[in-house]
Amino acid sequence: MPMNVKPVPTLDDSINEIRLGTAEIINKDILPVEGKLWAAQANGANDQNKTAAEAKELRAQIQEKVKKAGLWAPHLPKEFGGMGLTFMQHAFMNEVLAYSPGAASLFGVVAPNSGNQKILVQYGTPEQHEKWLKPLTEGTMQSGFSMTEPDNAGSDPRSIQTRAVLEGDEWVINGHKWFTSNGHAADFFIVMCRTADDSDPSGNNDKMTQIIVPKNAPGVKVVRGVPVWGRESSHCEIIYDNVRVPRENQLGRTGSGHQAAQDRLGAGRVYHCMNSVGSMWRAFDLMVERAMSREVHGGEKLEEKQFIQGFIADSYIDIQAARLMTIHTAEKMESGADPRTDISALKIFVPEMYHRVVDRAIQVWGAAGVSGDLPLAGMYLGARTLRLADGPDEVHRILIAKNVLRRYHAGETWDFGN
Ligand SMILES: Cc1cc2nc3c(=O)[nH]c(=O)nc-3n(C[C@H](O)[C@H](O)[C@H](O)COP(=O)(O)OP(=O)(O)OC[C@H]3O[C@@H](n4cnc5c(N)ncnc54)[C@H](O)[C@@H]3O)c2cc1C
Repeated sequence: MPMNVKPVPTLDDSINEIRLGTAEIINKDILPVEGKLWAAQANGANDQNKTAAEAKELRAQIQEKVKKAGLWAPHLPKEFGGMGLTFMQHAFMNEVLAYSPGAASLFGVVAPNSGNQKILVQYGTPEQHEKWLKPLTEGTMQSGFSMTEPDNAGSDPRSIQTRAVLEGDEWVINGHKWFTSNGHAADFFIVMCRTADDSDPSGNNDKMTQIIVPKNAPGVKVVRGVPVWGRESSHCEIIYDNVRVPRENQLGRTGSGHQAAQDRLGAGRVYHCMNSVGSMWRAFDLMVERAMSREVHGGEKLEEKQFIQGFIADSYIDIQAARLMTIHTAEKMESGADPRTDISALKIFVPEMYHRVVDRAIQVWGAAGVSGDLPLAGMYLGARTLRLADGPDEVHRILIAKNVLRRYHAGETWDFGN
């Protein structure tokens, strides 16, 4: 079933053009071959090598088409080979892109490279752009973002213990990380390091620095891909053992690592939520399609059962609420207003809605819902993971309550109109 994308009367023409152009490629070039595009990852293919080669060729053809349509790398400025989109244009493109899992990579957006590219654009020197950003964008290099540690709470970035000490013109790095995504393929990592102790007079948020570490630097040990949801993964455990890199590998000023992480995550959360909306949209279409065609006891279609009608109505409500909340937050960010409370609210709400919508679609599809023949099982695991990545729900709930209480203590109340 193709994604039904029509011009939205309240959006400006540029956004509508981007959405329609993206939907055309998703509907005509990606959905019909979705089962083959990622075939190399499927088990039991007759000829694994042949299937993988065909999938690669297919992906290259689509990428070429995307480039010709001017839809390559929506997250990057034009001078770095991207589309140079505004925040809203990018957000609205994401909901269309996410309709087909993995499609974003065919448009040049591959996490964690995309987040690293944005940090390199914002914090990198011209030399770092040339050495790291350019090959990353051209696809000749891969990267990872190495922040979370097994021995410290990832939800509290100030607890990070990986230490970088300046010796002459070199940073010497020691630490233990895990869940560094894309760790097997990466050529370099952006590593979040503590560069000042707690006792240092610098501010609480000025004690971390992000440093570029080539994977082949002596002392970098990729211990393993940590299995995720019962499967092998490329989310790697890594030990940095007396790793030495030149001082010029640091990103931004010493102590700017915490701010860089906030810059990465803040806007990223809105984009991720628009992705979740696109995935929910797909799950909804799949659910309705199945309800209209599957016959059950007595020859009635599922759509005639009130339980199933309830699923359709509840999912409709969940998607609309999630989508409007995300767009509202995106508009707030674009207008320059303080969006922090809204970002925390949507970071909790949207993955929960995503989880519920996919759960219902799986239920309607029965066994097929959890099979690898449909994208629903992957979406379900993704939705669950979102509730702890990028700040777990509890941390965002605390932030919302703090922001609200601060205002009421100051003698003001909350203005839900702004
Ligand atoms: C698939 C996947 C990919 C990832 N990729 C990357 C990556 O590329 N790079 C990277 O650096 N990291 C990555 N991560 C790690 C992710 O960012 C962390 O898991 C996340 O920040 C949470 O940290 P933690 O796992 O240490 O949980 P913890 O911080 O230990 O939190 C565990 C739980 O404790 C509770 N909790 C925490 N704080 C509070 C509080 N203040 N009050 C009440 N309850 C609380 C919450 O329920 C929370 O879920 C990835 C994780 C996954 C699952």
